[in-house]
Amino acid sequence: MALEKTLVLLKPCTLQRALAGEIISLFERKGLRICGMKMMQLTDELLSEHYAHLAGKPFFQRVKDSMMTAPIVALCLEGVDAIAAVRALAGPTNGRNAAPGTIRGSYCMSFQENIVHASDSPETAATELKRFFRPEEIFEWKQAVFDYLYACDEF
Ligand code: ADP
Repeated sequence: MALEKTLVLLKPCTLQRALAGEIISLFERKGLRICGMKMMQLTDELLSEHYAHLAGKPFFQRVKDSMMTAPIVALCLEGVDAIAAVRALAGPTNGRNAAPGTIRGSYCMSFQENIVHASDSPETAATELKRFFRPEEIFEWKQAVFDYLYACDEF
């Protein structure tokens, strides 16, 4: 168990559907600390890096194009085991297969238009946070309720 930071992107579909506030609330209500938050218009260059693992897939360009149709909101979230916890909250990639109660299971019907991106490992989280945030855009503030979020042996 360790305090971790992870990257979440609220995709263009989320902003277009006016769900950004609601999705941010879900992360807040879960108990994750918002360390960074900003709005960005993504570029093909940045997305080619971010989705490099999809470069051989037939839908690579389509996924990148979809991510450029409107701005995104980038979040840096912190919590104990936050990387896995946020992935579990997001649910599997295809919204149609995602369990009710997960973000994708509750808010989308699509493989591609699936509301959020969330880092999938500590290595990816570190790389992705550097890709989207400058060091001064990450804030180390003490969350007043921290002592009520965890037992003292949980972090
Ligand atoms: P995840 O976002 O769950 O980590 P991937 O890294 O495999 O999933 O894919 C990145 C994004 O590319 C997905 O969130 C989704 O928007 C899109 N994508 C992945 N696989 C498909 C697919 N088979 N069809 C359409 N879009 C896909």
